[in-house]
Amino acid sequence: MEDILFAEIEALYEEMVKTRRFLHQYPELSFQETKTSAFIQEQYQLLDIPFQANVGGNGVVATLTGSKPGKTVALRADFDALPIQDDKDVPYKSKYPNVMHACGHDGHTAVLLAIANALKKHQDQLAGQVVFIHQHAEEVAPGGAKPIIESGILDNVDVVYGTHLWTSTPYGVIETAPGNFMAAADRFVIKLKGAGGHGAIPHQTKDPIVAGSQLTVSLQQIVSRRVDPLETAVVSIGKFHAGNAYNVIPETGHLEGTVRTFNPDIQQFIREEIETITRGVCLANGMDYTYDYLYGYPPVVNHQPYAEKILQAAQQIKEVDKVQMIKPSMTGEDFAYYLQEKPGAFFFTGAQIDNGFVPHHHPLFDFDERAMMIAAKTLIAATLNENK
Ligand code: MN
Repeated sequence: MEDILFAEIEALYEEMVKTRRFLHQYPELSFQETKTSAFIQEQYQLLDIPFQANVGGNGVVATLTGSKPGKTVALRADFDALPIQDDKDVPYKSKYPNVMHACGHDGHTAVLLAIANALKKHQDQLAGQVVFIHQHAEEVAPGGAKPIIESGILDNVDVVYGTHLWTSTPYGVIETAPGNFMAAADRFVIKLKGAGGHGAIPHQTKDPIVAGSQLTVSLQQIVSRRVDPLETAVVSIGKFHAGNAYNVIPETGHLEGTVRTFNPDIQQFIREEIETITRGVCLANGMDYTYDYLYGYPPVVNHQPYAEKILQAAQQIKEVDKVQMIKPSMTGEDFAYYLQEKPGAFFFTGAQIDNGFVPHHHPLFDFDERAMMIAAKTLIAATLNENK
């Protein structure tokens, strides 16, 4: 059965590329993906596979029932884009300014549609059920996964799998981890309230740029000096806005950053340490502050037997050169929520372009489209293996 379905995926490759490039040209931001959702619904209509629309928002969930009894396997693909200008020079470049599929979610969607197409052709030989979860809004917490799950679509699901096309991993490589795989991703916002004034008369001001700079440096000591070196954590400031003119000390400063952890105790500790340091720096500089800590997605924690099953499935595929268990990544994913409900695993499908590595969320992001075939075949093999 695998061989027949692998051949179907090979036959669908051109269509998968076409679908991906179409979606790439018409990206939509998180929670605004109505046209993408309509496109996906249209594909399931054409495939004659029953589906539910508007699941937890713009989500689409289709269910293919095999002719033999068996387990229910859910496969998830996200479909939102990012507020980034597409600077690539390719015919399938985004047609919308400042909106871009810069994370490969267009590819994830094309992969899942191709799997549905291939499995539908052999529904009479299929055991169990396959649930295709097309998820909106992965990029922005609170994300689409949670409301989709709350709608009850996982109730009868036995196993859930998902993949991310991943450009820091070479083409032909499948990677996952037996437990912790991707980190909890939180956000914090600090607003400094100083006293503005003339740049030439600093002693009459309370300078939020100097205080914010001290704060930025001091926050780096949380990971290096306060967290147990054997624990894993990241504290990064990604935004620091203050001032408008070269000779004016501004009134306020605005800093935002991200905290990445696996251990909830460390997460809580860092949340408190940021406030302690902010309070100290502001006391020393005679200014007020506000501090908000916003919890993002929990960590993606794979279920070990299923992570192993993914690597076994990948080994069945001729285009795969290497499968491996890797160290966790400090990036985040709301696939975390599916794995809190059901056993399963998330994995990376290597999609690096030869000599052309561009990171995710970059204006020149692109991936090796052949990786979509590997992703589709791996998910099909893992699905079929559940009912052997
Ligand atoms: Mn992504």
